[in-house]
Amino acid sequence: SHNLFSALRAAFPQDMAQTAVEATAPDGSVLRYSWRDLEQASARIANLLASLGLPEGSRIAVQVEKSVEAMQLYLATLRAGYVFLPLNTAYQRAEISYFIGNAEPAVVVCTPENFAWVSQLAYAAGTQHVFTLGDDRTGSLLERAAQQDDAHVPVHKTADDLAAILYTSGTTGRSKGAMLTHGNLLSNARVLKDYWGWRSDDVLIHALPIFHVHGLFVAIHAALLGGSKMIWLPKFDPKAVIAAMPRATVFMGVPTLYVRMLAEPTLNHEAARSMRLFISGSAPLLVETFRAWQERTGHTILERYGMSETIMLTSNPYGADARYGGQSERRGGTVGFPLPGVELRVVDDANAPLAEGEIGNIQVRGPNVFKGYWRMPEKTAEEFTADGWFKTGDVGKIDGRGYVSIVGRSKDLIISGGYNVYPAEVEAAINDLPGVAESAVVGVPHPDFGEVGVAVVVAKPGTQLDPEAILAQLKSQLANYKIPKRCVIVPELPRNTMGKVQKNLLRAEHQNMFG
Ligand code: ATP
Ligand code: MG
Repeated sequence: SHNLFSALRAAFPQDMAQTAVEATAPDGSVLRYSWRDLEQASARIANLLASLGLPEGSRIAVQVEKSVEAMQLYLATLRAGYVFLPLNTAYQRAEISYFIGNAEPAVVVCTPENFAWVSQLAYAAGTQHVFTLGDDRTGSLLERAAQQDDAHVPVHKTADDLAAILYTSGTTGRSKGAMLTHGNLLSNARVLKDYWGWRSDDVLIHALPIFHVHGLFVAIHAALLGGSKMIWLPKFDPKAVIAAMPRATVFMGVPTLYVRMLAEPTLNHEAARSMRLFISGSAPLLVETFRAWQERTGHTILERYGMSETIMLTSNPYGADARYGGQSERRGGTVGFPLPGVELRVVDDANAPLAEGEIGNIQVRGPNVFKGYWRMPEKTAEEFTADGWFKTGDVGKIDGRGYVSIVGRSKDLIISGGYNVYPAEVEAAINDLPGVAESAVVGVPHPDFGEVGVAVVVAKPGTQLDPEAILAQLKSQLANYKIPKRCVIVPELPRNTMGKVQKNLLRAEHQNMFG
């Protein structure tokens, strides 16, 4: 059977009494879960799901606060052979209504606080069962599961059977449901375990949300497949992560988490002494953050790149990569090499491969690439080439040594007076100016040029920035067509929960700037 759970379960250590997860409860108390606890609790929930007599392929939609029990529900869904559908905890009524209407889940699990309105929406959409799960081990799901047997045989699955539907972050438009199979998830998890050198004595600090690829798949699968312990934090708190480092070896975060930890005076070489690996992804890591982290901790952050539709695609090397002449350097500003088994190419708009160093559309192929968008056959067809390459929507290049860099998303590309402007290049130049913390460059309509760039810039704390001076300084560094036509200073950039800058909001805000 290709049930992903079976593969994860096979990696549990012999001694099932060891601690698998050490969690901090919302009230601050420490909870320990052994490997046997994970096995038995997920078996009980799987038996509960099995007792409901759901049709094959049923979706289990889950919008709950982060807890170890929520992870057990994920494992139980895999075991029982249903399709896990996690939802961002920030989603409100209109969003949940869209997702439930779109996915038609047979089971919805929500927080006890949201039960009244979520159950109303769910029953109206035809859902049969609504359970609650609190982040303090309360709710009807666990009450019902407690009456179930703690042994369960994972349901037979083929590699091509659906394991999860993950809605994309909605950075560029309405979220799409990416259908991921047991084979997609397992192949990627195995590659990451080997590429990042996971060992049974590793300890992962898990501080990410678990409704998204990064926290749910990359972090949990790697730790479970490694037979490695997790220190489980209910939410990201820079002080708590730094405090956990002396007992840990691996941390995964989005770039903003690194920036927030750098603001803590307690972050230093000593604090990070027992760590072996810091991983960043989900959004571009500024070279400045990469360097500051090296200086403050002595560790070089490993940046990787992926997306809901493909899980992980590229990674900077952990050790020497024999496929790339034994190169082992983690290069800031790049996302490293295509992972083993992942084919990645850069093409022009006619899908013709480009030469090394040329900027174009990133396309990928491999066992990790999803089955398609849930109930969007036309959209799915559009996003694949005739010979099976998936169009990532990201624009980038591959250098002479094989390192991939992302320069932006095709939707964010600015075409000004007929010239392509890559926002990442302009942002990098702005970020290097004195007093600049970060920036975003977006294209807005312009009567003469069709589109022009607007620079939205955040100052470093305690610094005053002059927008005109910023534009003037750029003129000595970049070709004129790349210079934004206007610069605005803002206190912060709009970000979604995954730390991604929401350029669609910035575009909408400045839409009518030039009439
Ligand atoms: P939507 O597809 O709904 O617009 P989204 O693309 O943000 O939203 P995700 O699948 O969560 O949804 O994010 C994947 C995207 O995140 C990638 O396509 C890429 O643009 C970006 N990304 C991920 N890792 C990196 C990285 N290391 N550097 C730059 N961009 C990254
Ligand atoms: Mg996307």
